[in-house]
Amino acid sequence: MKDISKSDLTNNIPLAALKEGESTKPVTIAGVEFGGSDFTIIAGPCTVESEEQIVEIAGEVKKRGAKMLRGGAFKPLSFPYRSDSFFELGEVGLEYLNTARKTHKIPVVTELMDVKYLDKLCENADMIQIGSRNMQNFSLLEEVGRSGFPVLLKRHFGSSLRDWLGAAEYLLYYGCKEVVLCERGITAPHTHLKTSRFIVDLQAVPAIKEVSHLPIIVDPSHSTFQRSFVPHIALGACGVGADGIIIDVHPTPEKAAVDPLNALTYENFSVLAEKLTKIKEVI
Ligand code: PEP
Ligand code: MN
Repeated sequence: MKDISKSDLTNNIPLAALKEGESTKPVTIAGVEFGGSDFTIIAGPCTVESEEQIVEIAGEVKKRGAKMLRGGAFKPLSFPYRSDSFFELGEVGLEYLNTARKTHKIPVVTELMDVKYLDKLCENADMIQIGSRNMQNFSLLEEVGRSGFPVLLKRHFGSSLRDWLGAAEYLLYYGCKEVVLCERGITAPHTHLKTSRFIVDLQAVPAIKEVSHLPIIVDPSHSTFQRSFVPHIALGACGVGADGIIIDVHPTPEKAAVDPLNALTYENFSVLAEKLTKIKEVI
């Protein structure tokens, strides 16, 4: 794996690279700032399950400290099988997110996997999530870049920082003005539990801040995949200087249609959000 060289900074990632004397440049998306003085929390379910539920979750997470709502209408699920209890809603999920967004005046970030839904996503949400699995889908990055829409760019679980910033560079090169990076865990041969799928690379946060001006947040949910680990990693993310988190929150986590192992209850989310505010003050 190649490290980031001086020549990369000037030739390969000039738009994403930090210039001398600079630090993180804050970006504001639908009124929500990333990379400024606040620790910005994005929260919501893994997948949008119903209109009623996403509207309820939007209100609950906003009340408890979230500045943006997450929720997948399109999910990169590991297996092709779907059922009444394991599903993604697709296009209609985008419309439900929009209802939640308007009802509670909270901006929305949601994943795009196929460019054919780009326009519809842009009508119904505020930020495009490029998921881990599509980080180097260069034709998707190009089209998303051309849209100029804000992007949350997740790190591929096998990616170097160099490749990750290369993907961010595509977005910036083709026209995105607001790009936020998201560390979401990388693969490692051994983890603490069989169910813990990824290792969170918290060191990536200060490492990125040494080479790039892009804000960076952490996903403690999809990385640990284990509810009991989530608050610890979220607090750690704040401790290492991340600009925020994106976290799964669900009214009945164990009944969540996708990823029932990692979502927090509203109450656990409240406790965590309060602690994060205190840690951020110290930092
Ligand atoms: C998600 O955030 O819903 C998701 C699938 O994340 P990742 O791409 O990091 O696995
Ligand atoms: Mn999920």
